[in-house]
Amino acid sequence: MGECLNPNVGIGDIPCGVGGRGGKSRERAWVYTEGKMRLPQLLILSDVRLQWSRFLALAALVVVAAPLFAQPPTAPQPPTKGGRGKPEDTEVWTPEPKIVTPGAANTAAPSDAIVLFDGKNLDEWVSNRDKTPAKWIVADGVLTVSKVRGVGNIETKRSFRNYQLHLEYKIPENVTGASQERGNSGVFLASTGPGDDGYELQILDSYNNKTYVNGQAGSIYKQGIPLANPSRKPGEWQSYDVVWTAPVFNPDGSVKTPAYVTVFFNGVLVQNHFELIGQTLYIGKPFYKKYDTAPIKLQAHGDPSPPISFRNIWVRELN
Ligand code: MG
Repeated sequence: MGECLNPNVGIGDIPCGVGGRGGKSRERAWVYTEGKMRLPQLLILSDVRLQWSRFLALAALVVVAAPLFAQPPTAPQPPTKGGRGKPEDTEVWTPEPKIVTPGAANTAAPSDAIVLFDGKNLDEWVSNRDKTPAKWIVADGVLTVSKVRGVGNIETKRSFRNYQLHLEYKIPENVTGASQERGNSGVFLASTGPGDDGYELQILDSYNNKTYVNGQAGSIYKQGIPLANPSRKPGEWQSYDVVWTAPVFNPDGSVKTPAYVTVFFNGVLVQNHFELIGQTLYIGKPFYKKYDTAPIKLQAHGDPSPPISFRNIWVRELN
């Protein structure tokens, strides 16, 4: 132990050797007792000094090293909910849908549509019967059904699988007849053969004209009753907007997936992803017949009422 140079340390004074651990150095200190400065006193303060030095060294180390371990700044992260991840985990950025310029009006053909009839000619159409040029009547920008015997249905030269279709039709103001014999026509969403083979979306005057509901305008003929009847009266133009999902067949001809159709009739939803059970038939139970792609067909119905007209027909392939 070290030597204390002032043995006369009183009560309340700091005793010699306090805190000393071997007295490697001795320090002079003033002892203050009872409000008076008594005597300078050497105290062993080496441990105190040592601990203070260690503290300073450690603090300096922290100051120097802190930037080395600091995390780089990051953007604020949204909180996770229950450990389910971040919103970004479920964001899809590619591929981007192609840019399409819409028509000036929503009924006009968009930039990527195939225009099937624009009021000028029937270049996109042939006879369903023998594939010769279509013989319906084009006049004043309008296509009118020919009910001349032997003319029959017309269909597109092109074949389609899945598509979006727009067409407009008009029941003549002077239409006659009743039920199915009043402005009957139709658009076959896939023409799978001669005559009425295929899948018919019915066209009929359904403005105050009673008939079986699975055969009125907007029906998938004898399969799908329309969800509403937004028919306009004869003499006014009406529109169909259709999304057709073609059936898919297995190599043996069995159905892999059925056909589906969504139809807006004058802007009103009348078929909502309706599942077809086969081709539309006048008589009998519908069945599927294997095909890959098919033309779109317009019907020249045999009823004696005045013929209907079409305009503005376009299609967008969805394959
Ligand atoms: Mg029909």
